[in-house]
Formats: sequence, structure tokens, C-alpha cells
Amino acid sequence: MKAPRAEARTGLGAGTNAAPAGPAARKAGGRPDGSTRDACGPAASWPEWDAGPALYVHVPYCRQRCYYCDFNTYLLDPEGKARYLAALQRELALLATDPGLTRPLVSVYVGGGTPSILEPAELERLLGAVHRHFCLAPDAEITVECNPGTLDEGRLAALRDGGVTRLSLGLQAVQDELLRAMGRDHTWADFCATYRRVRQAGFDNVNIDLIFGLPGQTLDQWEASLRAVVDLDPEHVSCYGLELHPGTPFHRWWEAGELVLPGEDAERAMFDLAYERLGAAGFVRYEISNFARPGRESVHNRVYWLNGSYLGAGPGAWSCWRGERRRNRLHPAAYAAELAEDRLPVDVREPVDRRRAMEETMILGLRLAEGVDEARFARRFGLTPAEAFPAAVARLLDEGWLVREGGRLRLSPGAVPVANSVLAYFVEPEE
Ligand code: SF4
Repeated sequence: MKAPRAEARTGLGAGTNAAPAGPAARKAGGRPDGSTRDACGPAASWPEWDAGPALYVHVPYCRQRCYYCDFNTYLLDPEGKARYLAALQRELALLATDPGLTRPLVSVYVGGGTPSILEPAELERLLGAVHRHFCLAPDAEITVECNPGTLDEGRLAALRDGGVTRLSLGLQAVQDELLRAMGRDHTWADFCATYRRVRQAGFDNVNIDLIFGLPGQTLDQWEASLRAVVDLDPEHVSCYGLELHPGTPFHRWWEAGELVLPGEDAERAMFDLAYERLGAAGFVRYEISNFARPGRESVHNRVYWLNGSYLGAGPGAWSCWRGERRRNRLHPAAYAAELAEDRLPVDVREPVDRRRAMEETMILGLRLAEGVDEARFARRFGLTPAEAFPAAVARLLDEGWLVREGGRLRLSPGAVPVANSVLAYFVEPEE
């Protein structure tokens, strides 16, 4: 599954919270005017094993394209953006009428693209629409992804007043030459200035994204990035290994032999160093690629990893809802055209049968350090993991890749760096 956003993709990071004048001063999760939506359905019919519902909102614009990025993003176009924002308002209103939405949202995640590219008034309207149409849990997490260089005082005020409780900032590396080499539109100094503004605005739950395995990156450079991030003292850090996606400049250059990557051993050393340095600084690795101060784990990404239910809004956004995965039309113009006719802009629907849901619950859940709760799995599917996957569970336990402890199955420490190969056992046919 391709998760809607970066933090949930591969593995090391995320975090939020706001100033006394912001969401903390209001009823958390309430509307900016302090009220909450009137028509919250009864929570009783929501399955106890489902960690959702969550809402993902996609903002499909960036100032420039990073050379490694395969997200559904487009260069900023003011007319297209206006049509997209009007369509998004309509989509949020339609999604909120779904009869399956019988529990308040536990999380909202505005990702992209670059959400912080929107003007303050546009951010206000977007967040206002979420509060107006949806019922939010009192402690709902509301995260917005931001890029250094696009986050000024006006935008920070709009985010704070819109009830945002958590910001996720893309840094990737602290060396300007590496930032330039991957097509980022900011410097390390830009990031530091943004980070200061974020803290001054009162946000006290902040994630920083880093990438390792970059072209030409040395272990020393990676160590310097980790050290600098620890010094900034965020609540959450995501550390992803670089992935080369077809269609990106990095992939083309790699195929042409023009991209010098650090190599497998160096990448493994970088992966291990992140665990060592962030662990020593008090961050807990709660998912393969995500580290948090205790209690600051990403609520939103946990919904994904627990294979819970979420709705997606915006071009290309995926929903996992009522037994199917569905994806919206990718291009903002096609997306807006459907909504102009008052139709949900869905162009891909994939039914998720019980077998697939069990596989995904194992593959996603084992990414978490806490592993898969066997009793919860059995309440959801009527079978324990060992009954559903007898050969895989027996073999992986026997070979030491899985550990069973306290009613949970989790990856052994030796399995974490090679998690993808271990998790593949849950999609292969049972013997
Ligand atoms: S800013 Fe983020 S979404 Fe935009 S191109 Fe770069 S990596 Fe992709």
C-alpha cells in the first residue's frame, strides 16, 4: 500500500501542539469559534479494533519539484489552485455525510505537496471547512506539513487559529550542497529561521523529516544532520532511506549511471546510526523509521499502521473505508471537474477482502515496535495471526525474525533492518 504521506511511508519519524492563544486556549478539536459540529453520530457502532477514523487532505502544489519526489504534486498555478480549493470544500462536505462516519475523527493530516504554500486566508478556509463539516474528538491531532521558506508569521497564525496541534517540517539534510543536489528550495539557515518562528508561535509538537542514503552523502554528513536535529530538540523525527522512483530525475540519472549512491553497507550504517544517536537523545523508535519523545507518537500514522479507517480528500488522495481502498483523480483539473458536478472524484476502487485485510494488518502492524496485538487481531478477523498465517508465523518465530511476548508478535531487533523481506512472508501463499 502506498500510504497517503511521507511520515507513513518507510520508517524513521513525526509530532505537534500550540500556543495559549491557539488551539490549546480553545476546546481542543473544536471549531475555531470554540463550538463543535452539532451532528456527531453515536460512537457505539464504531468497531473497537479500528484505530480511526482519520482524515487526510492533500494539497497538490509545490514551489519546485525535488529530484527524488514521486508524490502527486504540481508546480503552483494560481488559477488551478483556486479551482482546487473550491472543489476541496465541496469534497469535504460530501465526505462528511458518509453514513459510516459514526465516530469523531481522531486525526486530521494536511499533507502534500506543500500545504504551507497556501495563503493564510486559504489555510483558514481549508481548516474552517474541516471543523465545520466533521466531528473531531476532543483530543484530535491536527497535523500540517510545512516546508522551510514558505512558513511566515501570517501562515503560522492561520494554522494556530485553525486548531492545528502539530507541524511536520521537511529538512532532509543540513548540508546546503546536499539540499541543492536533491532539488530542495531551502537552505539549512532557512530551516533554522523557520524552526525558530514555529517555536515562537507556540507549536510544541513538531516533526522533522530527514533522508539518508542520498547521492554523495557520507556517514559523517549523516551524523552531522542527526546531531543538528537533536540540538533543535523536536518532539518527533522521521528518518527515511532514499527510494528511487521511476519517472523522477534521480531515477533517470541513476539509470544513466550518473548518480553515485552510498551503497548498501553505508546505508545500513546510517540506519543504525539514527537508532543509536536518536535513542541516546531520548527518542524512542516506535516504528521502523519513526522516532518520538514518549507520548509524542503520530496519532495519524498509527491509524495507518494499525490498518484503521481513513478518508482522503484532494487530488490523488487514497481512502481506506468500509472494505475498499479508493483513490481520487490525480490531476487537480480532473478532480475539480468531477466535484463541479457534485460527484466524488474517485477513479480507482479496490475491494479489500478479509484475506487482504489480514495481510495488510500484519505487514503494517509489524512495522510498529509494539508489534501486532494477537487478541485484537482475533477480535477483528475471528482468527489469531498464527491461525491465519500458520506457516509464516511458525517459520519466522523459529528462525528468530519474530518474537512473541505479552500477547504480541513483533519483529526481532535483527529483523528491523531487513523488515521488507521478513514482511513479504505475509503476502506469499501459505503452504
Ligand atoms: S516539497 Fe515535498 S512534495 Fe514537494 S516536490 Fe519536494 S518532496 Fe515532493
